[in-house]
Amino acid sequence: MPSLFDGAGARISAALEHVDISEDTAQRLAQPDTALKVSVPLRRDDGTLTLYPGYRVRYDDTLGPAKGGIRFHPDVGADEVATLAFWMTIKCAVLGLPFGGGKGGVAVDPKGLSPAELERLSRAWVDKVADFIGPNTDIPAPDVNTNPRVMGWMMDQYRIINRGEVREVITGKPVEMGGSAGRATATGDGAFHTLTTMMQRWDRQAEGTTVAVQGFGNAGARFARRCAEAGYTVVAVSDSSGAIHDPNGLDIDAVIAHKEAHRSVASGYSEGDVGGAGRGETLGNDELIELDVDILAPAALENVVTADNADRVRAGTIVEIANGPVASEADATLAANGVAVLPDILANAGGVTVSYFEWVQNRQAWYWDASTVAERLEQRMVDATKRVADRAESLEIDHRTAAYVIALEKLDAAARARGTSS
Ligand code: GLU
Repeated sequence: MPSLFDGAGARISAALEHVDISEDTAQRLAQPDTALKVSVPLRRDDGTLTLYPGYRVRYDDTLGPAKGGIRFHPDVGADEVATLAFWMTIKCAVLGLPFGGGKGGVAVDPKGLSPAELERLSRAWVDKVADFIGPNTDIPAPDVNTNPRVMGWMMDQYRIINRGEVREVITGKPVEMGGSAGRATATGDGAFHTLTTMMQRWDRQAEGTTVAVQGFGNAGARFARRCAEAGYTVVAVSDSSGAIHDPNGLDIDAVIAHKEAHRSVASGYSEGDVGGAGRGETLGNDELIELDVDILAPAALENVVTADNADRVRAGTIVEIANGPVASEADATLAANGVAVLPDILANAGGVTVSYFEWVQNRQAWYWDASTVAERLEQRMVDATKRVADRAESLEIDHRTAAYVIALEKLDAAARARGTSS
């Protein structure tokens, strides 16, 4: 299988057939601007020392300071972080945010750490990257396995190093520490707005439309709840422990409560326990991807739809809530089978959009109420989705390629204005 980064390159190449940009811009976007690799030391509770590989990549800052999350996951590596930073560059451009793209990570399994260890690790990562990040250079945020609490520790560590608070150095913080209302739910909400906008365009109704969500973390669970509230039938959800499936529709609130009690959706699952009325069954994660549903929303990690299983996807629409859940080698098969993919660089951009709102509020020290955040998020997501859909229609290309075309135009115009491209 080609590397993730090669896959990203394949998608730029596809878009370059439909947009005329400077050779200088294309060259710059073919590799990250700056990449930092560090060893993050953690003194374990038992007194031993463990060093974890850590990363921060600033892919491109043509449109503004680099922006993107930091993930804690055992599979984190240089290729993955660079690719994720590249996608952030494109995502911020598609949404029209004044940010470039960045990403960070630590190759660690946080589930094996105590809360005190997790705090020390979060602070140690900031110790290592403090000279590299900053409110005008590179602004981290949550990603896989990191959350507001981790962002709070990180901001606090930056304060200690800097000898003064800089709230806008990191987003996705607890509201009590300068976080924005609505940030925690923003990714799921944004994906829901993208789906709603497209459903209206397709003249399709929520009622009678089935949804399967792979990944029941922050974004997946919120998206599932929004869909259920809007009248969709959410028939399956999964997490790393497995999937649950009920063709009549799951009770998402019951599933969320079950996950809280059992720490997973599938373990401890028994008839009547989840989904109401004693219906349903458990499935493997792979089976969920191949379910006969209308909408498939992968909301966990990269590469869940690949060349191997693309032909078996029966959903007509994929909403990419994760970053990179569809491998580039699967694109042609999905297109040939008529599967519409609402791409990550649009559909999951709600998170970074409210991160932008948080950064703005921090700079102004003037905070918006939840309904203002929700309204502005919806407006941005609806506008961006319409722009992408209009371009896809006019150029007769898929939504991902259309989103790339829009981003490349924007990046090229800014690079020419700066004089970094001619
Ligand atoms: N990690 C999220 C993403 O992949 C959010 C990034 C941010 O808020 O900066 O889009």
